[in-house]
Amino acid sequence: MPESLSAAHILAEKIDRDGPIALSEYMSIANMAYYAAKDPIGEDGDFVTAPEISQMFGELVGIWLADLWMRKGRPDHVHYVELGPGRGTLAADARRAMGKFGCDPDIHFVENSPVLKAKQATLHNSAAWHETIDSLPTDAPLLVVANEFFDALPVEQFVSTEAGWRHHMVARERNKFIAIPGTEAIQNQVSSASAGLPVGTILESSPVSVQILGELSNRIAMQGGVIVIIDYGYDRPGTGSTLQAVKDHLPVSPFDSPGTSDLTAHVDFHTLGNIAKTRLLSVHGPAEQGQWLKALGIDQRAQKLAESDPKQADAIRAAHHRLTHLDEMGRLFRVMAATSMDWPEPEGFVYGEG
Ligand code: SAH
Repeated sequence: MPESLSAAHILAEKIDRDGPIALSEYMSIANMAYYAAKDPIGEDGDFVTAPEISQMFGELVGIWLADLWMRKGRPDHVHYVELGPGRGTLAADARRAMGKFGCDPDIHFVENSPVLKAKQATLHNSAAWHETIDSLPTDAPLLVVANEFFDALPVEQFVSTEAGWRHHMVARERNKFIAIPGTEAIQNQVSSASAGLPVGTILESSPVSVQILGELSNRIAMQGGVIVIIDYGYDRPGTGSTLQAVKDHLPVSPFDSPGTSDLTAHVDFHTLGNIAKTRLLSVHGPAEQGQWLKALGIDQRAQKLAESDPKQADAIRAAHHRLTHLDEMGRLFRVMAATSMDWPEPEGFVYGEG
C-alpha cells in the first residue's frame, strides 16, 4: 500500500488534525487496512488458524452442523453463513462433510477484505458475499460459523484515573502512537459498577461484537438455527487489556506500525452469552476447544486419516496435538453455541449449559 494510503498515515493525519481518537477507532482503521492489503493467514503469513492446521477442524464443524440439521428434521432450505471466512478453508471442509449427510445449504460469506474474498471465490464459486450481516437472507434457518472473527473486531477500553474513569484514547508523541486516558469524564455504568478498583485498572468491551451478535441472535430466534463462535477468550468478567498484535507469528506492539500487524483482543464470552440469552436463544458452553473436538470424535478421525495415509501419520498427529492439547489451542480457544428454542441441543458441550 502506498505510504499516503497506509493506516499509520491516515491515523497520524486524523490525530494531528482532530486530537486523540478512541482505541476502538484506531483498531478498526488499522485492521480494515491490514485485511484489505493482504492474505495474512498461514505459515507464510502472520498467523495460522485452526482450519489451516488440518482438514479435521472444518470437517468436525460440518458434521456438528449436519447432526443438528438432521435432528431438526432435515429442513429443505437452510443457509450456511460464515463470518470472516479467511481463505474459505473451513467452509470447504465443512461443506464436504455436510454433503455426506445430504446437507447442502446455500453459502453466505460476511467478509470485507477484497483480497480474502478473491481467495474464497476460488473454492466457493456459488457463494453470496455480504459486507455486513444486514443483507443476510431472512427466509430460512441460519447455520452461522465464526472462527477467529470476533477477536478481530474493535474493542474500547476504560481506564481508572485519580479523577475517575476515562476512555482509553490513542494519541501521538514524538511520531509514535501511544494510549492515554481521555480528558472527558465518563458518566455511565462503568463508573458506578467499577467503583473501588485501583487507579490504572483497565476495563475492556467490544460494542461492535455485542451489536453483531445481538442482531444475529434476533435473526436466529426468528428464522431458526444456530451460531457457533470459536475464539480465544474468557468466560468471566475480568480486568486488564487483552489487546495484542501479531506479525510474522510473533507478538509486536499494537501501537507500532498499525495496519501491518493483526490486532486482536480476547473475546468476552460471558457478555456474548448473555446477549444471546436476552434474545431467548439457548446458550451452550463455552467449552474448551480441545474438549469439544474430542467429544465430536477428533481422536478417531485422526486415527483413521493416519491409517489411510501412513506417510502423513506424523503430520496428522502433530495437527491433532496443536488443535487439542492444553498447551496449544486446546484450552485457550473456546467454543460457544447458541440455538433457537425450536432447534435441538448441540453435541460436544460436555460441561453442560452455560
Ligand atoms: N475464519 C478464518 C479467518 C480468521 S481472520 C480462519 O479461521 O482462518 C479474520 C477474518 O475476519 C478475515 O477473513 C477478515 O477479513 C475478516 N474480518 C475482520 N473484520 C471484519 C469485519 N468487520 N467485517 C467482516 N469481516 C471481517
